[in-house]
Amino acid sequence: MYPIEDQYGRTFKTLRISLTNTCNLGCVYCVQGDGVRQDIPVSKASLSLDQLIQVVAKLKAILPLDTVRLTGGEPTLFKELVPLINALSDLGISNIKMTSNGYLLADMATKLAAAGLKEVNISLDAVDADVFYKVSRRRDLHRVLNAIERCIHAGIKVKLNAVIMRGMNDSQILPLLYYAAEQNITVRFLELMKMGYYFSNEFERYFYSEADILNTIATEFTYKRELRIEGATANYWETEEGIRFGIIANESSPFCGDCNRLRLDSYGNIFGCLSENSAVSVFDVLDDEDKLVERLRMALSHKQSVQFKGSALQMMAIGG
Ligand code: SAM
Repeated sequence: MYPIEDQYGRTFKTLRISLTNTCNLGCVYCVQGDGVRQDIPVSKASLSLDQLIQVVAKLKAILPLDTVRLTGGEPTLFKELVPLINALSDLGISNIKMTSNGYLLADMATKLAAAGLKEVNISLDAVDADVFYKVSRRRDLHRVLNAIERCIHAGIKVKLNAVIMRGMNDSQILPLLYYAAEQNITVRFLELMKMGYYFSNEFERYFYSEADILNTIATEFTYKRELRIEGATANYWETEEGIRFGIIANESSPFCGDCNRLRLDSYGNIFGCLSENSAVSVFDVLDDEDKLVERLRMALSHKQSVQFKGSALQMMAIGG
């Protein structure tokens, strides 16, 4: 194993793969303005299933990878999702997870669980249908709620992700907490991140901080904070009634100091950090291990030491 580690002791343990940079929802925190990738020619083709497996196999041989998270864009739009999960299981990756908007997930849940999917984070920014529409610009809240129940039923561990934006869906914090408690699952509230459009527009207008979220929950609950697990994106709290919730606070409580994530986009480029938008290609050096290691080290050097800065890249391109 090559020592790919920086001066903070960080390496890459979690690989997040963006399977496609397209999505079937238009969530306002992700799809706004024209914050698209400048560095990828439009005509460039995405990696095929075989190429993707080839890249992961090479990365796994070099890095201490323990988790692969499939994301996007929307990963359920990737036609060969089941064969991919089967192949990842065959590579010996036991922690296979996914982040999805849930829109197409209900009918896939059983097959994905059988292929080896262990955990899914489902984005749900509202449980009120009108607020859901305002955020996602889709009418079909029931599809996502159905997907949540079907995944739980199929034995896939479910967590909810809710990006909270001031004046947009901050009214949904308590309803989401009650809904998650009813389903016996954990909701994580996300601070808006300075990505894409919000890197240089309207961030302050919509930002709803970790303290704001906690104050909102304090209007109905008393809670205490849990100790943070190293490398975790979220901090967690538990209410006196035993309801556990998390907050992913890139601005208020950045977790860059022990970030262990590597991102692979659908074109075979890696990103060591969300705040660094230069793509490092790995697909073209798969047969040259020295060069591959050099590029992984370059991606690692892109990690920030403390503060999350954000970038003009859209999350749906880089894989949120
Ligand atoms: N389509 C899938 C979904 O909706 O979960 C996966 C991709 S989406 C880009 C992954 C995550 O990024 C979602 O949980 C979404 O909430 C989050 N996200 C996207 N843009 C964001 C932003 N500007 N601030 C905070 N979270 C963001």
